[in-house]
Amino acid sequence: MYPVRATDPTCRNDPEEGDGVVSCWTDNTTMTYYMDSGGDYELESEDRHAVDYSMANDFRTTDLVVTYDSNPTFSGSGETDIIYQEGNPASGSGGVTWCNDAVDGDGRRCDQQYIRIHGGGDYTRGLVCHETGHAVGLQHGNNSLPITGNTNGALGCMQTPVGSSEPLGSNNKFNINAVY
Ligand SMILES: [Zn+2]
Repeated sequence: MYPVRATDPTCRNDPEEGDGVVSCWTDNTTMTYYMDSGGDYELESEDRHAVDYSMANDFRTTDLVVTYDSNPTFSGSGETDIIYQEGNPASGSGGVTWCNDAVDGDGRRCDQQYIRIHGGGDYTRGLVCHETGHAVGLQHGNNSLPITGNTNGALGCMQTPVGSSEPLGSNNKFNINAVY
């Protein structure tokens, strides 16, 4: 769980698609999300299903209160927490998470984060769980304490690479519930 060792200890605004250095928490226990429904990054129905499935079976089993925001907010102090997009991350990875609006003076929390996942079959429950895990502060094994291999099964859906149906693990939930 952020912040530990290798990650930048201060949550800050990322450039578009992030720089892979910073990690953040979402800003509070209430986690709202939106899926792009038009334009360049629109999610297709199978992508939307993967997001909803992970919300229902992974994140709603934690202390987070997860709700869909069909009328998203992109400015001010109460923005929709996570915006899901379907598109090709420039890094070539299957998915990416980045902070768009770090909470001023806080250092850990981000008011709005974006998740962009490659289409064409990559939009799976496992990868949605993985990227959403980053948005709430979960990290890879090599950035964790204790340090572990990135494929250690205890990492649940934070394994790299992640299986298409990998769920949120018990250690993932323990860490989420310790923060939120
Ligand atoms: Zn990752």
